Amino acid sequence: MLNGTRKQKLSGKMKIITCFQKPEEFSDRHVKFYTKYATVTFKTLGSPLFQRFLDWMMRKENIEEHQVTNVQVRMFPFRRENGKGLAGKFNKKGEILIYPKRLEFCRKLVQDFEKEAVYFYIKARAMATLIHELLHVRYSSNEQKVRQLTRKYFSIFAQSQNTRNTNTDRILNLMFLQ
Ligand SMILES: [Zn+2]
Repeated sequence: MLNGTRKQKLSGKMKIITCFQKPEEFSDRHVKFYTKYATVTFKTLGSPLFQRFLDWMMRKENIEEHQVTNVQVRMFPFRRENGKGLAGKFNKKGEILIYPKRLEFCRKLVQDFEKEAVYFYIKARAMATLIHELLHVRYSSNEQKVRQLTRKYFSIFAQSQNTRNTNTDRILNLMFLQ
């Protein structure tokens, strides 16, 4: 299933969007954290194994590569008016935007889990978000369907990686229960 011979299509459309002017609310420490976060996200989403998986999923779901203009890894978190964060967005221009989790949240996570697990959380969240937004290309505003399929496809990928343990299961539960 993961041995597609076609060239991966999305990888050429990925970029990190940095802000030359940092939002006032962020300190240098934030900037350092979010820069690292964006780098990890970009590497994770661009990894050949994951790109091959996405390619397979897109074929299976009839999602055409041309429907996606680009995939943007954004540097800073997005705050909705209700104060809640946003993991990702597929907009009318066909762009997929991926946002980080807030520094404060990750700090709290470090208290409950080992550092490795937090690293895993960041990577897993990025992958689940891209899967989720790609599914929106096909299922537009059917959030329930998209969520259900996100879980399905994410676990297919996670199982193919064979890296799960109790800690990662706890992290995955945390991620999908939000
Ligand atoms: Zn959604």
